[in-house]
Formats: sequence, structure tokens, C-alpha cells
Amino acid sequence: LKPVVGLTGGIGSGKSTVAQLFAENGVPCVDTDVVAHQLTAAGGAALPAIRTAFGDSVLDANGALNRAVMRQRVFADPSERLRLEAILHPLIGAESLRQLALAQGPYVLLAVPLLFESPAFHRLVRRSLLVDCPEEMQQQRVMARSGLAAEQVAAIIAAQMPRQQRLQLADDVIHNSGELADLALQVADKHRYYLACFGLPAP
Ligand code: ATP
Repeated sequence: LKPVVGLTGGIGSGKSTVAQLFAENGVPCVDTDVVAHQLTAAGGAALPAIRTAFGDSVLDANGALNRAVMRQRVFADPSERLRLEAILHPLIGAESLRQLALAQGPYVLLAVPLLFESPAFHRLVRRSLLVDCPEEMQQQRVMARSGLAAEQVAAIIAAQMPRQQRLQLADDVIHNSGELADLALQVADKHRYYLACFGLPAP
């Protein structure tokens, strides 16, 4: 396996934006959120087990996972959440590994929103890269993108690991509180650093 850099950060911190900038430098990204969607889309590998565990009521007309229904079930009952995670987590791990092995590039990013809470993923990465910005900025960006109310976004942020703790755990940090041009400069800088760090030739 190529060297893996774990990309993490709170909701709306800018992980996808940073991954896009790394892609422009020739570094691919395996995104565990995308993998989870693939596994639960119509025909996805997680669906048979989900159907057996939860019944047809959590599937939509196409046979894909109905996320809204499932969200309500796991929200109402923590044991259902554990049951769903017991099905999904091993499949997400295996599929992410498969995609990491196929990825082309000098090294690979693995985007995991809860990297520091997920030992199996954390063990896999050579460096962890945190995308950090002030919480007010996270809130504004998520509201602009999703149309969620301020209180809803604040509740999600409050349920995640505190910013200071993430900053302490991260090996490397990208500060996403400025312009996109500044973000691109930071990514180019980190890219050079990782190439050197992993003993890879400079571009
Ligand atoms: P999630 O946790 O929800 O997956 P994320 O961490 O991947 O989010 P992005 O989707 O990259 O975050 O960014 C959230 C929103 O903020 C997007 O609409 C993005 O275009 C915007 N955004 C990110 N960084 C900046 C920036 N530096 N300047 C302006 N807008 C930005």
C-alpha cells in the first residue's frame, strides 16, 4: 500500500475542498463517506445484510437505503445504531482498503470525518491532516450549503470532538479561514512536505 494521509475535520471545515486541491496536485482521495454511500446505493454490497436486519421499510423504491428513515430509526434507538454500524463499518473498512490499493499517485488521502474516533482507520495512516477553521465559519458554510437552521448546525458541531482536542491530536493542520487561493498555497506546501516525508521525488 502507498503511504496514506488521513484527512479529517469537523463538519463543513473544508475536507472536500482540500481533497479537490490535492487532486489537482496529482494526489487521489478515498472518502469513507463516499464509500458508505456506494455500499448503500441501489445494488450496494451492504444492502442484503441491512435488509435482513431492518426489513424492507428502510429501503426506497429502487432498493437503495432510505437514509431519512434509517436516520430516524438509529436516532430513536441506540441499539439500532450499533446494529447498523456492525454491518457497515467492516464493509466500509474493506472497501476503503480496496480503493486505496487501486489509487494512482505518489501517496493517497483517506478522508475520515471521525478519524480520531476510529482506531482502525487511524492505525492505517502515516500522518493525520486536520482541516481547521473557527466554529462560526463551519456554521456559516454548512448553513449556506444545506439550508439547515443555525441551531441544527450548532447541535451537530457540539456533538463532534471539540476543536482544541482535534488540534492536539493532529500531526498536521491546514487553516481554512481565509480565501481559497490561500488554501491552495497551503495544500501545495503540505504536498511538498509529504513527498519529502515519504521519501518520494519532488514533482
Ligand atoms: P462535510 O463535513 O459536510 O463533508 P467538508 O469538510 O467536506 O464538509 P467542504 O464541503 O469542503 O467541507 O466545505 C463546506 C462548504 O464551504 C462548501 O460549500 C465549500 O465550497 C465552502 N468552503 C470551504 N472552504 C472555503 C473557503 N476557504 N472559502 C470559501 N468557501 C469555502
